[in-house]
Formats: sequence, C-alpha cells, structure tokens
Amino acid sequence: FTKHPALTKILVVATVSGGGAAAYSGSIPFNGAYADAGCGDKKKVVVLGTGWGSTTFVKNLKNPKYEVEVVSPRNYFAFTPLLPSVTVGTVEARSVVEPIRSIAAKTSLDFNYREAECFKIDHENKKVYCKSTQESKSGKKEEFAVDYDYLVVGVGGLSNTFGTPGVEENTFFLKEVEDAQKIRRSVIDCFERASLPSVSDKEREKILHFVVVGGGPTGVEFAGELHDFVLEDLAKLYPTLKQFVKISLLEATGHILTMFDKRITEAAEDKFVRDGIDLKTGSMVVKVTDKEITTKVRATGETESIPYGMVVWSTGIGTRPFIKDFMKQIGQADRRVLGTDEWLRVEGTQSIYALGDCATIVQRKVMDDIGAIFDKADKNKSGTLKVDDFKEVVNDIIERYPQVELYLKNKKLKNFVQLLKSSQPGEELDIEKFKAALSEVDSLMKNLPATAQVAAQEAEYLANCFNRMEQCEKNPEGPQRFRELGQHKFKPFRYKHLGQFAPLGGEQTAAQFALPWDFVSIGRSSQWLWYSIYASKQVSWRTRVLVVSDWGRRFIFGRDSSSI
Ligand code: FAD
Repeated sequence: FTKHPALTKILVVATVSGGGAAAYSGSIPFNGAYADAGCGDKKKVVVLGTGWGSTTFVKNLKNPKYEVEVVSPRNYFAFTPLLPSVTVGTVEARSVVEPIRSIAAKTSLDFNYREAECFKIDHENKKVYCKSTQESKSGKKEEFAVDYDYLVVGVGGLSNTFGTPGVEENTFFLKEVEDAQKIRRSVIDCFERASLPSVSDKEREKILHFVVVGGGPTGVEFAGELHDFVLEDLAKLYPTLKQFVKISLLEATGHILTMFDKRITEAAEDKFVRDGIDLKTGSMVVKVTDKEITTKVRATGETESIPYGMVVWSTGIGTRPFIKDFMKQIGQADRRVLGTDEWLRVEGTQSIYALGDCATIVQRKVMDDIGAIFDKADKNKSGTLKVDDFKEVVNDIIERYPQVELYLKNKKLKNFVQLLKSSQPGEELDIEKFKAALSEVDSLMKNLPATAQVAAQEAEYLANCFNRMEQCEKNPEGPQRFRELGQHKFKPFRYKHLGQFAPLGGEQTAAQFALPWDFVSIGRSSQWLWYSIYASKQVSWRTRVLVVSDWGRRFIFGRDSSSI
C-alpha cells in the first residue's frame, strides 16, 4: 500500500504511532482534586459532553455495573435542529433543552455530573483534567482531575472561521442555545435602532441588512426563518421599515444545499429568489470589519465590500484545541478530527471511545482491500485493473458508507459513475483513471456527515456494546475485530442514513429520504412531516409538549418581538 504515494494521498491513511503522552506533571494547583477510580467492582465511565452523542450514550447505558461521570460546560442537552427556530422566537430556548441530571434520573445509573470543561486527556494514566465553568468568589476557576476506566469523548466541534479576519469579533455563530438567544436579541435591536428618528435612510438600509454566510442546511434554515419573522411579524410592527430590510445569503461554492438532491438545491434557490433573498453563490468572504463584510467572487477574483447590520456565520465546524493536543499525543496530528476504528475506539489508545462531530471512523479494511488491488495491478506490471477486481471493493464501500450510494444515485460522483457505467465485466481499466475516480469518493469516505443522526446512532451502538461488555471480560481491551477473530464479539458500527430535511421557510420544507428509490418531497406536506418527526424526536415529554405548544402559540399569536 505504501508503495503507492499517490494513493496514500487520495485515501485516508492515519499513521498511528503508539505516541506517548507524558504523564501530567504541570504546576496546576488541584484545589480539592479528586481522582477516584470506579468504586468497588464498578468500572468508571467518564463521558465528555452533553450533546447528541454523549446524552444518547447516557440514555442508552443500561448496565448498573458502571459508574458514570459526565463532564461538560453545559448541564443540559440542546435539541440543535430547532436552534434556527429559537433565533426568531418560533420556539423558545427553554423548550429545546433538558437538564442532563433529569435525563440521567430516568436511568438506573450510578450517575454524577460536573459542570466543567476538560482541557487535557492523559491516556497513559487514564485521567482527564478539567476546569470548572464558574469562577469562585476569588475569581478562580476550580481545576481537578478525574480518573476513568473508560472514556467517551463527545465534545462536538467549534464554529469554523477558516481563519477569516474579523469573523470571531464581528459575527454571530449559530452553534449553541446562547448563540440563538443573542441572534434573537440582535435582530430586534437592529429594528429598534433603525426606528430612531436621528437615523438616516441610508443608515437604516445598512442596519437592516442581515447577512448569512454559509449555504448549508443551518444557514439556509436561518435565512428562511428570518424572512418569515420579518414578513409575518416585524413588517406589521415596524411598517415604515419594511422597505429597508434586506437579507443576503453568501455561499462560496456554486450552489446552496449541495449535500442534497439537485432538485432540492434548485427548489431552494428558486424560492429564495422569489422571496427576495439576495443569494450570492460563488462568493467567498475574505474579511469582516465592524461595518463591512468583504467578499471575493471566485470566478473573477473581484472583491466587494458590503455594509451590514448583522452577520450570522454558519460555515461548518472545526476541532477543539484540547482535542488537537490530544491528537498530537497519540500520533494523529495529521488528521482533521479524532480517528477511531469501526468500533469507535480512538486509534492509538486502549480505553477511549469517540463519537459525533469530534470523531471519524478510519476504514482500514476498505483501504487495505484497495491497497491489495493496486498491489495486484502492480505485480501484473500491466498498469491496468480488471473491472471485476474493484466491484467487490465498491460494494464494500457502499455497505459502509450509505452516503456514497446516495451520491452515486444523485450522480454527484461523476467520474465514478461514468467508470461504473462504461465498464464491462472482464474489461481492463486504466489504473490512473480508477485512482482519479476514487478521489471523488475519498472525501465522502473520510467523514460521516456531522449530523445529530450520526452522533445519536454511534452513541446507541456504543452504549449497547458497553451494556454487553461483560461478555468480553476475557478481553479487557474491549471490542475486537470479529472478522479477524472469526467469532462474533461486537459487530462494527454501521451508519444507517434515514434521510434529511431542509426547512426553507414559509411552511415549505424539502425532504430527502433514503428509500430504495430516490424520494424527494418539497412543500407543505414535508413541513408537516418535519413537525411530526421533530416532535417525536424530542428528548422528553416535557420538551415535546413545550415545543408543540410553542408552534401552536406562533400560529395563533405570532412571534414575540420583545428585546429581552
Ligand atoms: P454536540 O451536540 O455539539 O455536543 C458537544 C458537547 O460537548 C456539548 O455539550 C458541549 O458543551 C460539550 N463540550 C464542549 N467542549 C467541552 C470540553 N472541553 N469538555 C467537556 N465537554 C465539552 N443535525 C441533524 O442531524 N439534523 C439537523 O436538523 C441539524 N440541525 C442543526 C442546526 C444547528 C443550528 C446546529 C448547530 C447543528 C445542527 N445539526 C443537525 C448538527 C448536530 O447538532 C450535530 O451534528 C450534533 O450536535 C453533534 O453531536 P455531538 O454530540 O458530536 O456534539
């Protein structure tokens, strides 16, 4: 495999050295440090985070033989798919959150929660180092260490700024509940500021220019929600300001919602144009100041500076700094996110598991198979491959990566589809052509999508493995490759893509389902399906009732525009 440097570039190859982290010997005063391992014969599972992955893991852990300790800076789970609705008051912030202690109270777990942030993982000594979120009266944050037998890392990601100057200081992110609340206040503040008698019309235009950066599902949904809020509520309350309002959506690539079927992309773009949302595709943001946002047109290289009142930045996620440090310790410095095996165990460690947005599964089996094919082609010295050689690998890729099949169906993997279509059994293929085609699949193979659906499925799988861990007591390292062992311990994780929604505003939602055929639905019926599914997916009956009553309240009374 290493004989093929080009392929090594194309495919995901993680060089995992045993990489040792030096035992922590820092000078941090561990006030009230406690470092108890599991009590009695109980194994201690430390879980980092209270997001989709971590909370689903805790909910599904049933084995009372574990002692569970959750460390997270926020003591609640947040239903992120409804955050865009929180930004304009369609749904209230408290309706989409549930305390982790309430969730754990419904399980039979020996449970503890610490409101703190982990800042270092010491995998050699099986400790995590944490800092409390709140400051003590002396202005200090408590620091402490926690021992673990097993560590589950589900810390998600950070909003990715791609290092663009001025983004951190001048834009709003939409990642946490607090972000959504800040956006809601800021939108109303813009309207109140624009209403002041001393403000000129030119200034009003600027204040009421709302810019959304990023044409992914979150940016698109927020733009749609904001448009509805302005049209259905604010236009009635601020009738003289309606003419000054402008919403712009900037996207660096050629289209919005590129991860969806082409029909959905087209329908969304048409709807935004009809709604008067200024859609600027192929437009990359290069700088944001407190007054202007500068964009560069990718095709021409021309730059333009646009005055704005408020910018919401939603362009994907990056890796948390302490995870980056940990990746360096374990020889994963060259990766973007933590690499795990197919049983979700972090490569280069023994008892650490990672799931959700902070991790990705490294598919060694597929890579080894592909490597073997290329080796075979090399030995033949023919520089060609037989179609039959790679069909099996392609099927393996599709089995492991349902999103590849989805992209094949949508014909987004153009070279790959062409290669599959044009080749006949027994036919010889140009090895370079095959490599080029594989490079299209590469990005899809590397990362499962960063969605709640993936995080929750991984967490359910992992909790299930932990519930049955006793069955593997003779093998304290945990799940093993059952293919190699020839016996069933745990099956490796397989993601099942169920489908995805893209709410577009105006009671219109686009839905794409992973049925045996391509099923795409756009409109009001999908919106009602969205309501039903998101109500059913709520983490508790309390939030379910609150969310549904918020929707009802919005239908009857409209959204609340108070700036609190
Ligand atoms: P998160 O849910 O982000 O949780 C991370 C947790 O780690 C948090 O509790 C955080 O406080 C905690 N944490 C952070 N730092 C530390 C630390 N140092 N120590 C300990 N804990 C820490 N996905 C969908 O499938 N469908 C959707 O409709 C959808 N809509 C979305 C809308 C918005 C606005 C956003 C932001 C995301 C949306 N997503 C959606 C994506 C989805 O929310 C994420 O993929 C999912 O939350 C990932 O889960 P996670 O457990 O990996 O991380």
